[in-house]
Amino acid sequence: MLETSAQTDARMSTLGSIADGEIIIPMNCPCCRNSLIEVELYGELVDRCRFCGGLWLDPTELGSLVRQGSAPTSIDGARRRCTNGLRCPKCNHAMAPVQYAHDSGVYINKCLSCEGSWLEPGQLELLIRYRIGTPATQALANAWDDKLRRSNNLRFTRELLRSRLLSGGTVLAFVLFVFVDTGELQSAILLAASFLLPLVCIWFADIAGDLKRISFGIGRPTITRSTPGDFVAIGGWILLLSRIAVLLWLRE
Ligand SMILES: [Zn+2]
Ligand SMILES: [Zn+2]
Repeated sequence: MLETSAQTDARMSTLGSIADGEIIIPMNCPCCRNSLIEVELYGELVDRCRFCGGLWLDPTELGSLVRQGSAPTSIDGARRRCTNGLRCPKCNHAMAPVQYAHDSGVYINKCLSCEGSWLEPGQLELLIRYRIGTPATQALANAWDDKLRRSNNLRFTRELLRSRLLSGGTVLAFVLFVFVDTGELQSAILLAASFLLPLVCIWFADIAGDLKRISFGIGRPTITRSTPGDFVAIGGWILLLSRIAVLLWLRE
């Protein structure tokens, strides 16, 4: 009977090979005892049992395969043939079933000594599916991502709105510009002082917003409710920028 290439590969790998002076010791399937052969999977060279389809993975290979694997369309033959008493094909230590990522529901056999993993047929696909999640969990993750990004944008805008550096810098730049232009120190100081109210609104927006029962003049109008700090800060900016605009317009 002629030997198939599969049988040749299997026979060759039981003999061992020499690469770069290092003897590669063949490994046998911990489940069905047939020899393991090297195959490429998602760009990684891994050891697979050609007879039962089980996979032997080094500690680093497992995570890499689960991350790189593409979504399985179907998971065929996910079954557990050898459940107990497996021994590591590499170091012959006992292996124990361990749940991947603590909540995946997929129990893989892990060597307690070299930390390599033995995956039965279909288990890698189950792990990839676990990593990708169902369409529902994916949608939830995307929505959460979106929400987080929006709230980050909002926080950035609010920080910008109350930025002391930006508002103070704007006023300082304008005052310096006027001073250089006119050379009058006293009027520059008075000009800077005239920006006190908008700067207070921007710098202390929340405190200013909380001030109640302030009477402007006699009787009404009186502020009776606290104002959101954002509104106070926006008001401050309007006051600040319109003042600069008016002053620039008057100079012409
Ligand atoms: Zn096998
Ligand atoms: Zn081991």
